[in-house]
Amino acid sequence: MSIYEKYETVIGLEVHVQLATASKAFCGDDARFGGAPNTHISAISLGHPGTLPRLNKRQVEFAIKLGLALGCEINLENTFDRKNYFYADLPKGYQITQDRQPICIGGSLRIPSGEDFKTIRIHHIHMEEDAGKSIHDQDPENTLIDLNRAGVPLLEIVTEPDMRSPEEVDALMSGMRQLVRYLGVSDGNMEEGSLRCDCNVSVRLKGAEKYGERCEVKNLNSMRFAKRAIEFERKRQIDLLESGGTIKQQTLNFDPATGITTPLRDKEDAHDYRYFPEPDLPPVIITEAYLKELDQNRSPLPWELLEEFQSTFGLPLYDATLLTQEKTTALYFKSLCQESKHYKAAANLLINKILPEIQEQKIGLAEFPLSQKQLAEFVDLIQSDKVSNTIAYQKLFPALLKNPNQAPLALAEKMELIQSQDEDFLKALVENILAQNPDKVKAYNSGKKNLLGFFMGQLMRQSKGKANPKAAEELLKELL
Ligand code: ADP
Ligand code: MG
Repeated sequence: MSIYEKYETVIGLEVHVQLATASKAFCGDDARFGGAPNTHISAISLGHPGTLPRLNKRQVEFAIKLGLALGCEINLENTFDRKNYFYADLPKGYQITQDRQPICIGGSLRIPSGEDFKTIRIHHIHMEEDAGKSIHDQDPENTLIDLNRAGVPLLEIVTEPDMRSPEEVDALMSGMRQLVRYLGVSDGNMEEGSLRCDCNVSVRLKGAEKYGERCEVKNLNSMRFAKRAIEFERKRQIDLLESGGTIKQQTLNFDPATGITTPLRDKEDAHDYRYFPEPDLPPVIITEAYLKELDQNRSPLPWELLEEFQSTFGLPLYDATLLTQEKTTALYFKSLCQESKHYKAAANLLINKILPEIQEQKIGLAEFPLSQKQLAEFVDLIQSDKVSNTIAYQKLFPALLKNPNQAPLALAEKMELIQSQDEDFLKALVENILAQNPDKVKAYNSGKKNLLGFFMGQLMRQSKGKANPKAAEELLKELL
């Protein structure tokens, strides 16, 4: 057994979600991503003396929506604190956050793990604001500062150390991304930094009860980097322990270029930040009535739809998972199922044709040119054997896309794609084929039964795909 197999990796996350509010957490500045540097700013986000913060109601609403979805207890009286530190991209010299009384406590998220599912517990969720951005790579001499992001509202979700592999971290982040998009509280875009995490990593001998000392890798905004950072840390910590060293609790930076982590600073304790109650913001008081209102108008949740798609529509887990990835897709599928009762066939159409098509055209489902009524008719044409599956997908569907105003049945008729159930038509075809291939007929009848495939091929070709395969096969067998 290699030394690495003796150890188990333990991971806890601090997930940062940038909220999709119009304005910043404590002032009216534009909170959107991007913009020319230092244009989404004001005296408040620049931290000028004498300015006062004002709470953004939407941030509270979004925090509660996420908390309710994750089964957290909502802290009906929660408070803000100041976390003090000096950095050039933090013009106030402190960050407004929640330390003593965060808005959500507890809760959990179920993630796929291997063939099974696993529940990751959440310690709490708190509201805070983002810092600005330091840009190190645009000027050889100076660090440039963009304060557009300073004061943008964030939620920080702190998990318990319940993950054991980079794959579980990936699953948790994917689950969070899916959930915040369902709830409409964030776009969950990792490239733009709307979703990022700090990974706390430790190792312990398998079977050990106590957790090992942990290190925290800061600000990972891609799952690929998080995976590499965790794998690097795991190995580094095990090597250190095996050579008789001890792990020192540290805050680390991961450099994607070199693939290694380097210490940013020794782990700071809470007192290093001199946390104290934010004097300029009163406690946030949430009423039961407000909670009820949010709960009553809540969005369907991904795992609810996943369950419904399997139980009500009889889809396999794989299809249900794909179709519930995004809420718009899931709701689209649901309303398609109002039009056609052939749920599995409708799912196939969506998964195999429509989703790839809109991805290629870079449009949303709302812009897809065919109506659900047309799609349902298309599915029903296949299911009722009017048009063969192959012909429908290869000929009818592309034609429909070019003529989005046509009804599928009418277009299929015009293109002469309707399968013939007509006995005489089929019979004439079969007789013709048998007459053309006397040798093969003889061979078939002396035992080469797999020649049936050859005859079927001929038949489908000569009928241009319009022969109903089932009826044709029966007739072939009979006349052979
Ligand atoms: P702080 O960063 O303020 O010290 P905590 O000690 O509560 O806060 O831990 C923060 C994060 O570290 C949480 O996500 C938690 O799951 C994780 N964590 C705590 N202990 C360990 C450990 N031994 N190994 C890995 N992660 C840990
Ligand atoms: Mg921390």
